[in-house]
Amino acid sequence: MLENFIINQNESHFAALSAINKNEKGIVFIVNEEQKLVGVLSDGDIRRYLLTDGKLEQSVFVSMNRDFVYLTNSTKLDSPVASKEGVNVIPIIDNNNYIVDIHLVQKQSFFPIAIPDLQGNELKYLNEAFLSTWISSRGLYIDTFETEFSNYIGSSFGVSTSNGTCALHLALLALGVGQGDEVILPDLTFAATVNAVFHANATPVIVDVESDSWTIMPEDIRAAITPKTKAIIVVHVYGQPCNMDEIMQIAQEYNLSVIEDCAEAHGATYKGKLVGSIGDIGCFSFFANKIITTGEGGMCVTNRPELDEKMRILRDHGMNPNKRYWHDVIGFNYRMTNLQAAIGLAQIRRIDKILNQRQLIEDSYRLHLKSSENVVFQQNLKNRNKVVWLAALLVTNKNRDKVLRELKDIGIEGRPFFYPLSDMKIYKPFARKCINSKAISKNGINLPVSQKIDESVLQKLKDCF
Ligand SMILES: *Cc1c(COP(=O)(O)O)cnc(C)c1O
Repeated sequence: MLENFIINQNESHFAALSAINKNEKGIVFIVNEEQKLVGVLSDGDIRRYLLTDGKLEQSVFVSMNRDFVYLTNSTKLDSPVASKEGVNVIPIIDNNNYIVDIHLVQKQSFFPIAIPDLQGNELKYLNEAFLSTWISSRGLYIDTFETEFSNYIGSSFGVSTSNGTCALHLALLALGVGQGDEVILPDLTFAATVNAVFHANATPVIVDVESDSWTIMPEDIRAAITPKTKAIIVVHVYGQPCNMDEIMQIAQEYNLSVIEDCAEAHGATYKGKLVGSIGDIGCFSFFANKIITTGEGGMCVTNRPELDEKMRILRDHGMNPNKRYWHDVIGFNYRMTNLQAAIGLAQIRRIDKILNQRQLIEDSYRLHLKSSENVVFQQNLKNRNKVVWLAALLVTNKNRDKVLRELKDIGIEGRPFFYPLSDMKIYKPFARKCINSKAISKNGINLPVSQKIDESVLQKLKDCF
């Protein structure tokens, strides 16, 4: 097929059109006597040339574009030129400028809810970790990732874990939560939050969320406190920080521990402080659809050295750090691998860019739905600087599931909000009265933000609502 894309600079425009006719891609690449790539002509270029008195039998040397887009083998995957507007066929050349392949840019027609962005140093670091043979849970990348991630959050310590759920479990155990203790948490969250409480043999107490922020309601926390209450898990749901001043105030009054579930809120701030650094322990997830990823993975951050030490021991089979194979407590294997940490390090080093990109895409949804009366976007509230995990909005005056179907028809994968925990049989007995969460969940839609949405698709967005 390659030969249908290449002609010599001495050949005629007629020969160029014949090649284009065969390759059906509307373009030919032009080489010199040494077979080096020197120019490009599209069918449009030839048309314009002929309309301005060009001759069909004249050689393409006179009209070819000498300034063109190309890729080399090493830039093939991640080059921004590969997605340059209007360029659909790109030659790939070797060090001698010989054309070795053709890259066809796929026109995007479906936008899935999440795609991990791995286009920085992820592969490079992963490769280095792999070649170092430190592929298990020790290695330079683990230490560096823990340091750089906790520094970013503004916490003194970072304990990486195999996933976000065991980060929550570790946090509960380190805070001494166990049998007979009650842990207050919000109704609107992913089930891992409540499951971790069961893993710790404690009793969840599920409370309602605020109607404006969709995060746990401080008054309902207060109302749910009993002598057995030991901790609160607050969830910065869909990137929205909880009302941390009031929550910390309640925790102080009743001597309760606060765990921040930050699985959906890397980089969000409350009164200028990053979420995760405000409570006793902040727990993060690096699942593939989260803001930054390690494939599977998680992290606990804390400012308290004794919690850091407890979590490190529990993460590593409960082994005494000063006496190998001596166990004082029953622990777990909750360690992250050096390979995961390598990916995570590349991710945390460019988190600002990732967050910015997500924000821009949310902004484009807001812009195109500005005049729609059936949409309420997740709010930007005073003192809370939310981040965009997935774009999040409520549908009003229209059936949510119908909107989801219409979105699918235009190529956007929307996702319904989490079901309220209190709707599910296994969690219902632990829930107090939750009204707001049910209303929010029923009408909520998440939209993808990991990839720029085509303008043509955005134009159709409004009709879905
Ligand atoms: C994703 C998520 C978790 C769990 O993280 P995993 O890494 O998948 O175990 C916990 N809490 C919330 C709110 C989440 O969104």
